Amino acid sequence: MILTAIVDSIEPAALPIMTTEEILKEITSRDTTMVWKAACEIISLGQNRDEILPLITHINEIKETTRGLSMGGGFAPNQRFLDYALRIIEFHKNNSSCTCKLYLDKYECNDPNKEANKGNIIIEDITRFEDRWIDYYITKCQKCGQKFKTIEREGHYTWWEWTSIK
Ligand SMILES: [Zn+2]
Repeated sequence: MILTAIVDSIEPAALPIMTTEEILKEITSRDTTMVWKAACEIISLGQNRDEILPLITHINEIKETTRGLSMGGGFAPNQRFLDYALRIIEFHKNNSSCTCKLYLDKYECNDPNKEANKGNIIIEDITRFEDRWIDYYITKCQKCGQKFKTIEREGHYTWWEWTSIK
């Protein structure tokens, strides 16, 4: 239980960068803390096709070894990190369209500020409630120019929902 609380409090982007070998070793370890860490690393690298490509040939191995793991988590199950990490690898395996499509996934922790810091998007505008709290961002993919409305909400944690703007 204590471990789960710690895991909940660490954000994906706060982790040190891992090599592909380290990611693979940890995500197939069946140690749920290591699996979670590796999944967060994959999420953090999600927009970088070159970093994800070496994992594609291991997708079946990763699925096999992570099946049935009890990932824990309270209000926000940690399983969502693993599931999204697997969908990211699948996306890069099956898709040649721009990686910004991954922001449209139901995964709700793609922080536009972190994505902007990584150079993946630019934040063009921010609309606030009562001049204070953020309602939504207008964001733009740095690779293909696709624009998004990125809603920010606070619950038990901050989450975002991305929808593409035509
Ligand atoms: Zn794009």
